[in-house]
Amino acid sequence: MLRSNTCGELRLTDASKTVTLAGWVQTVRDKGGVLWIDLRDRYGITQLILEEGVSSADLFSTARSLGREFVLQVTGEVVERNSKNPNIPTGEIEIRPTTLTVLNSAKVPPFKIDDETDGGDDLRMKYRYLDLRRNPVRRNLELRHRVAQATRRYMDEQAFIEVETPVLIKSTPEGARDFVVPSRMNPGEFYALPQSPQTFKQLLMVSGFDRYFQIVKCFRDEDLRADRQPEFTQIDCEMSFVEQEDILQMFEGLVRHLFKAVKGLDLAEVPRMTYADAMKLYGSDKPDIRFGMQFVELTDLAKGKGFPVFDSAELVVGINVPGAAEYTRKQLDELTEWLKRPQIGAKGLIYARVNADGSVKSSVDKFYSPDDLAAWASAMDSKPGDLILVLSGEADKARKQLNELRLEMGTRLGLRNPDDYKVLWVLDFPLLEYGEEEARWFAMHHPFTSPKPEDIALLDTNPGAVRANAYDMVINGTEVGGGSIRIFNRELQARMFSLLGFSDEEAKAQFGFLMDAFEYGAPPHGGIAFGFDRLCSLFGGADSIRDFIAFPKNNSGRDVMIDSPSVIANKQLDELKIRTMV
Ligand code: ASP
Repeated sequence: MLRSNTCGELRLTDASKTVTLAGWVQTVRDKGGVLWIDLRDRYGITQLILEEGVSSADLFSTARSLGREFVLQVTGEVVERNSKNPNIPTGEIEIRPTTLTVLNSAKVPPFKIDDETDGGDDLRMKYRYLDLRRNPVRRNLELRHRVAQATRRYMDEQAFIEVETPVLIKSTPEGARDFVVPSRMNPGEFYALPQSPQTFKQLLMVSGFDRYFQIVKCFRDEDLRADRQPEFTQIDCEMSFVEQEDILQMFEGLVRHLFKAVKGLDLAEVPRMTYADAMKLYGSDKPDIRFGMQFVELTDLAKGKGFPVFDSAELVVGINVPGAAEYTRKQLDELTEWLKRPQIGAKGLIYARVNADGSVKSSVDKFYSPDDLAAWASAMDSKPGDLILVLSGEADKARKQLNELRLEMGTRLGLRNPDDYKVLWVLDFPLLEYGEEEARWFAMHHPFTSPKPEDIALLDTNPGAVRANAYDMVINGTEVGGGSIRIFNRELQARMFSLLGFSDEEAKAQFGFLMDAFEYGAPPHGGIAFGFDRLCSLFGGADSIRDFIAFPKNNSGRDVMIDSPSVIANKQLDELKIRTMV
């Protein structure tokens, strides 16, 4: 090896040893008679020192030829430093080189390879290999590695088998848009990249594998947001002979194990909430339960008092913001404007301040008596000094808007600390949701999800009311995982496809293989998949998953480093018979 030690390793106890290090030049500080070099590798930084009268002129001249990010090998003696640096683990020692070998020179990097860099996003992505030299970025990938290893350890201990499923599969109309790959050997035909290994993991259950998992790339051709990537990674899992409760226990166990292994935290009991309650109390199927401010419905109290906005509303619903009564008129106007932006689309905001003496002063005093308002405050369990914020309108919309407002107020009051982790199961999702535009039902999770047995009778009469054996895991308001108990019976699966608007032929063409398999002894089964990148970003306390992916794509789905996607040569197009098709 070109080194005996790493740049993060040597301590005072190593003094007087002769060592060889290799790494990148972080800085050279030349004070004439004495010259320091900071040498960096993945493990840390070690200082080298050259001194006139001690170090040779040759060494000085090599050192003076060095630039930032040159690759350097140094052999020398470990000595105690005169002025120690308590901020780094190697800060008590330095190396007195006897040889310095430049292993490679480097162009001046386009941005500083420092914790705080001067490089903008685009530049950092174009030179991602340099960006990855920076500590914060490298640490994120180290964390990702630890999450993956801890996952494998737990799953292995629980007798799960990691099985690889194919990446070239078949396009299906349900779910997100597929990425497709033309087949040269089958002109005019295309593979699709998997949106998830869903059908394969179910087939593995039919095969008797019993407990499967895979840390696996998935591909979805969707419009991108900060927390989305066209290719992303799941911890994908499936189990046989289980009910929902077994899955919840097993994977609560996984998350508990990960919190311990990665963060050193003991996770409290994970509470459970039905989808219906989540929507009613938080206006969201992924509530952030780090703070309260649950919704309180004021419809009955607020209607019939002559205020036209509330009188015509399907729902009047509010939150009590503790200690925010001192919000000024100006701040409340700003908040109202914020709510009226098209992204949220509220028509207005009604507020009421609870004064120190318990009296309530509202923006609609004209319509409501002090007693009316006192009844609001009591319904909301408001205390003196609290602020009541109320929205109204169509129920679904008002809840969605109030969800945004609640999160915003939580942020403003500093109640959403990324180091405070609150995990939640959301259960009993509806099986179906209606697509107004397409005028048909869609599977809320996916078409393989089993309805709750007690709701099956509703499939014919009131499909929208059928609940699924489906569950999501939510951490701090972010959905990190979701899954379901599956259908394992051909007839029920066929019925599901027909509800979703598939003809028998279409269902057979798309998913015949799965329905056939169900006729050869399919065990009851269910599973879950976790968004691995998202889990990592949560553990890392960051919003964007991009920082936890070595080579991510930008908002337009481009890799600006390798410049992809790109056009391909005519010869390739010809081979693929793509041009002949158009
Ligand atoms: N395949 C599902 C998904 O990607 C997860 C599951 O149901 O296990 O969301």
